[in-house]
Amino acid sequence: LLATLAAGSMLALAACSGGSGGSGDGGGDGGLIGVAMPTKSSERWIQDGDAVKSQLEDQGFTVDLQYAEDDIPTQVSQIENMITKGAEALIIASIDGTTLSQVLQDAADADIPVIAYDRLIRDSENVDYYASFDNFVVGQQQAWSVLNGLGLTELDGTPIDGAPAGPFNIELFAGSPDDNNATFFWNGAMDVLQPLMDDGTLVVKSGQTEFEQAATLRWDGEVAQSRMEDILTANYSDGSKVNAVLSPYDGLSRGIISALTDAGYTVGAEWPIISGQDAELDSVKAINSGEQYATIFKDTRNLAKVAVDMASAILNGEKPEVNNTTDYDNGVKVVPSYLLESQIVVKDNIQEVLVDSGYWTDAEING
Ligand code: BGC
Repeated sequence: LLATLAAGSMLALAACSGGSGGSGDGGGDGGLIGVAMPTKSSERWIQDGDAVKSQLEDQGFTVDLQYAEDDIPTQVSQIENMITKGAEALIIASIDGTTLSQVLQDAADADIPVIAYDRLIRDSENVDYYASFDNFVVGQQQAWSVLNGLGLTELDGTPIDGAPAGPFNIELFAGSPDDNNATFFWNGAMDVLQPLMDDGTLVVKSGQTEFEQAATLRWDGEVAQSRMEDILTANYSDGSKVNAVLSPYDGLSRGIISALTDAGYTVGAEWPIISGQDAELDSVKAINSGEQYATIFKDTRNLAKVAVDMASAILNGEKPEVNNTTDYDNGVKVVPSYLLESQIVVKDNIQEVLVDSGYWTDAEING
């Protein structure tokens, strides 16, 4: 019996000294961290999840990484499970930013710190930190990319001398109304576009200029596709053309592109300028082929690093670094935030921004 016990504890010791990288219990000595991601249906969240997991494991933590396929009850029960398993911290990219209050209360009761990842969690005091990008600026960049494609401004929004007077027909899309980011993107974009809508340079023929009209539940590309089809049928059957589409996410842009193709648009002179977000591989290819004009690159590796550093600081009894303590009020409190910078990607800088940084390889984009 003694020999068995000794052998058993040696095995246990060996398992512990295995250090980082283990995914089972006791893989690292830094404790368990729960990471809740919204869905695998969009590439970016897979990259986020992978980056957060590997960086946490590099620091010796054990990671429980879960995806909820955009189903709210699934995400709630995944987080409950993480709490039950003894997670020492939670990193959460929510599906609906308003539905986690109860489970976050349970986390707080168990003294588990919570970091909101990319999307602010609303209506709860139990959100300790927020790691994201400057989402208002992301929206401005989306609008600037559209104006750049129309020949009106530089990519940073500086007006171009001798730019065409227009008017240009534009249609507007927004993200999921339950995602706090969607309003930030929209407000940033409208900050840029509204003056040009007011002076007649940009015309929204559908008249759908309110966030509620433009919003796309769960960021669903098929919903965007059918809304675009309806807009084209109702407003452009007279032979007039859409010159630009504000789209806040690559997955929506792909739906919009399908609707345009089905309506007989072909890439070339009359193909509209379309924005995007996330630098998803298919959309980078679409930028190369001229179907999409631009995307916004948000380096998920850097975002993961911010969130991982926050978690490890908290667990080491240190204060995480933040750079914004004013903008992200979740309805109960202003959540201390670290906001990263995003970059506009157009055909000309794909190599520099996406390939040279190692985000995508040349073979992935052109292969
Ligand atoms: C993210 C975007 C993403 C969108 C859809 C937002 O919360 O900030 O990067 O495009 O969700 O997944």
